[in-house]
Amino acid sequence: MFCPNCKAEFREGITRCTEYNVDLVNELPPVPKPIFVYLEEVIINSDAAQIGFIKSILEGEKIPYYAQGDHSYTHLALIPVRFLVPKNKYKKAKELLKDL
Ligand SMILES: [Zn+2]
Repeated sequence: MFCPNCKAEFREGITRCTEYNVDLVNELPPVPKPIFVYLEEVIINSDAAQIGFIKSILEGEKIPYYAQGDHSYTHLALIPVRFLVPKNKYKKAKELLKDL
């Protein structure tokens, strides 16, 4: 039996996951296959306000992005964040961010 939330496997006789308080299931649904996406760098920025602005623009247009280096930002303010977007969204993202 498996917990649909934490994916943990439980021994026979147990029917609920105590951590998530949900009923166990016999089988977990198959994990979707990851899709490989080519990413292209659309902009590099080290300004906190602009980084927030870039995210809101991309999210507003539903353009998925990967902000490389974003987590180190608060500690190392001079390390710029690289914004990467899927290749098929590159032109649109570039156009949206052209004034930054
Ligand atoms: Zn669980």
